[in-house]
Amino acid sequence: MGRLTVLLAGLLLATVASGDETNRGDDQQPTAADPVAQTPPTEFTGPPHVERLAPGTLELLGAQVPPGAARRLSWSASDTFEGIANSTPVLAVNGAQEGPVLCLTGAVHGDELNGIEIVRRIVHNLDPTTLTGAVIGVPIVNLHGFRRASRYLPDRRDLNRFFPGNPKGSSAARIAHSFFHQVITHCTALVDLHTGSFHRTNLPQVRADVRHPAVVDLARGFDSMVVLHSEPAAGTLRRAATELGIPAITLEAGEPMRLQPEEVEAGVAGIESLLSALGMAKRLRLFREAEPVYYDSTWIRADSGGIFIGNVKLGQRVQIEDLLGTITDPITNQTQEIRAPTEGRVLGMALNQVVMPGFAAFRLGLPTSAEAVIRNLQQEELSRETKNADLNGVLYAIRSQSNTNGERSADPEEGLD
Ligand SMILES: [Zn+2]
Repeated sequence: MGRLTVLLAGLLLATVASGDETNRGDDQQPTAADPVAQTPPTEFTGPPHVERLAPGTLELLGAQVPPGAARRLSWSASDTFEGIANSTPVLAVNGAQEGPVLCLTGAVHGDELNGIEIVRRIVHNLDPTTLTGAVIGVPIVNLHGFRRASRYLPDRRDLNRFFPGNPKGSSAARIAHSFFHQVITHCTALVDLHTGSFHRTNLPQVRADVRHPAVVDLARGFDSMVVLHSEPAAGTLRRAATELGIPAITLEAGEPMRLQPEEVEAGVAGIESLLSALGMAKRLRLFREAEPVYYDSTWIRADSGGIFIGNVKLGQRVQIEDLLGTITDPITNQTQEIRAPTEGRVLGMALNQVVMPGFAAFRLGLPTSAEAVIRNLQQEELSRETKNADLNGVLYAIRSQSNTNGERSADPEEGLD
């Protein structure tokens, strides 16, 4: 008789002997005559899938990443456009010590390539045995767009307008919902990587909604990068995460459709600074000069169509009336000059191309000091609540006011990055 048969026979005997009323199931103590007694006593731990996790184990996408280990996982939205499972790599590095869970997302817009390389470099340079906390890197969120070299999903929807998503909504809303709930909800902080769009380029910069103190703390981690205050548009990953209590910023670097070594390097340096500031990894670089925070910015648009040629460089500081670029009508040969309406710094600009009237050509960061912001407020005798508000609240009040006058109200930021 095989061992299994002996065991089964023993169990059956024990059950019959005890009867329904007194059967104590797994607590049943076998007697000396019971064949079950011959097996070594084992503690009941339940089915294997509810086995207790080791402390510090990262559970993600149905997998468990133990402390001090790295895994390549995959995420797939259950309902894809083609109706075919389409999985995206998710790189999880779980540090030996517990701490923050930093998520890095690239190519939410499928044609924005610099972020893919930034995520790859950061994640593959981490040492899980010395890392505190975990890093979850998703190099290509919008795999559909990436494969077609497109910003959008196959239905021309912008994925970055559908977070946190809806499981019963459009294809984009379902993809957003799946990603947000399967990956983003595991983060304690998020950096979403972008570039300029539609043949525009951005100085490497952090976009942060400084009304949220936790977001300010996160932005401070990028000590050598320009920070631009901006309220995220509805449906963006940055906004949905922040609303859930996960502080989030976007890191803008360069232009779409290209891999730019300098911009990638700047992005990597910024995130390495952040890892150090969060106490997750040791700083690998020397301290660099801090960049200013811009609390406001404005777009300068083309008033005529034609061939646009830029006359300034990204990051350049300009004075009022400085020549930013020209637009020349190729038929009439008439040239329109675009001049700076105010002093500022070029944070984003169009690449040389043919443009239509109204095209957003330059984004200037405006030199508004925190002191000036507060002075203006005091002059306007705002309510006691606003006077007592912290700096973040003050900045928000200023921004709300500027939103009532013209160009700045129609901030096209998120649609252009
Ligand atoms: Zn983008």
